[in-house]
Amino acid sequence: MDARRRPLTDEDRAVHEWQMWIDGFGEAAQERLKGATALVSRCGGLGGPLCYHLASAGIGRLILAHAGVVRPSDLNRQILMTHDWIGRPRVESARRRLLELNPRMEIEAVAENVTEANAAALVGRADIVFDCAPLFRERFLMNRECVRQRKPMIEAAVFEMEGQVTTVLPGGTPCLACLYPADPPQWNRRFPVLGAVSAMAAAIAATEGIKILAGLGAGLAGTLLHFDGRSMTFQRIPIARRPDCAVCSSPAG
Ligand SMILES: [Zn+2]
Repeated sequence: MDARRRPLTDEDRAVHEWQMWIDGFGEAAQERLKGATALVSRCGGLGGPLCYHLASAGIGRLILAHAGVVRPSDLNRQILMTHDWIGRPRVESARRRLLELNPRMEIEAVAENVTEANAAALVGRADIVFDCAPLFRERFLMNRECVRQRKPMIEAAVFEMEGQVTTVLPGGTPCLACLYPADPPQWNRRFPVLGAVSAMAAAIAATEGIKILAGLGAGLAGTLLHFDGRSMTFQRIPIARRPDCAVCSSPAG
């Protein structure tokens, strides 16, 4: 993926110089990040810390899709939500917190979750998609649109003390439907999770997406990284395309 580059200001250089010293990064990578737009579906326990890292890294534009208002039960993991915002829209809390950190970026705050009605347009406005939705219905919609529109998608998920991340590069790697041909029946909207564990998965997903946007390559293409926060074990599991995948096996996929 080749994001449109945007020239840096002196302020951009002052903020981001520590990462521009990274081997292979430099000013060119920073310009690619500044020229990039990312769609993050749900900015909760996973998407929230992920957005924070994208903002601090200097991404130019974020599209946030997240419905609902802040509830007390969000606050153990959704670090873009705050106690004083309870009862007010989540996506506005996220925008406010991200702009406090990086007022140079643009944020499009969509107070809806990804649906059949908005998925194509939301993905169409992004260079990369970060799938942090809890429900497979939303995940499958983004996967289908990313494959159809040939956009990279970072797929992150957590449950209890475990997390997993993979990178979908349409035309190259397996897609989400290769991994899950059907909606896993045991998956629920409410599930046990520790904020620090969802933040671990978020940091891995953010690192992977930033590398792709910056031109440093992907580390999880064709690989599912699974970790268990109880035992602190990390596993790299090779994954393969499913020849009969309903989403990515067509000639266009
Ligand atoms: Zn597939």
